[in-house]
Amino acid sequence: MKKSLFFLLILSSCIQPRKEVPTPAQLLASGTWIDLTYAFSDSTLYWPNNKIGFHLDTLFNGTTPGGFHYSSFQFCAPEHGGTHLDAPVHFAEGRWTCDRIPLERLQGEAVVIDVSEKALKDRDYLVNREDFENWEAKHGKISDSVIVLLRTGYGQFYPDRLKYFGTDQKGEQAVAELHFPGLDPDAAAWLVQNRKIKAIGLDTPSIDYGQSKDFKSHRILLGENIPVFENVANADRLPATGCYVLALPMKIEGGSGGPLRIVGWLGK
Ligand SMILES: [Zn+2]
Repeated sequence: MKKSLFFLLILSSCIQPRKEVPTPAQLLASGTWIDLTYAFSDSTLYWPNNKIGFHLDTLFNGTTPGGFHYSSFQFCAPEHGGTHLDAPVHFAEGRWTCDRIPLERLQGEAVVIDVSEKALKDRDYLVNREDFENWEAKHGKISDSVIVLLRTGYGQFYPDRLKYFGTDQKGEQAVAELHFPGLDPDAAAWLVQNRKIKAIGLDTPSIDYGQSKDFKSHRILLGENIPVFENVANADRLPATGCYVLALPMKIEGGSGGPLRIVGWLGK
């Protein structure tokens, strides 16, 4: 090869236009956002022994003496109800409070473990290690730094208290009547020991199943500073992989949890 041709080839390879990398804004503009949050209202579901639910009082709503519209409300609600976050401190002393969770832990790629077929046949279903292993056999190992979402299928019943909780009773005695699926503590232990997930969420009222008395899955996950998202909506609209999730709770200083706005993004 002639020396000049050789240099020309080298030069042309250097000035090849680089493949343009889209900015995050360009990338996000091209996909679809899915709201994974239930609206807060009078029908928002709270634990049976909570004394109050979500309250919205009107401070003013109408036409002012100046002739323009003005509306302003005040709300009051327990931290844990509706679509919400469990901050690690909820069951683990000294772990992150709501305001201390790093933002990196509240966003990222999501994997969706769909156990609805089995869970819908058994209100006390425990999402177990085999469910994770079956998922991995199909989709590959759950990679580090993902958000795990469990889909039990019970989201379709929200906000029907009887169908969603398994009881429509309220008060302390109703807690023993709760029947809905959750995560097996053995699977929670396997997850924290073998996979480095950012956070975990599901479409039931609690990461521990309704019949749990010791809330062991809560204690295992939150003890490792893994935030938990409960009453996640529209989990049926998410694919097993390829979804980006952003889950931002109300930033309550010192809070053990709080109302959560969680959304998923799917590329086209
Ligand atoms: Zn909670």
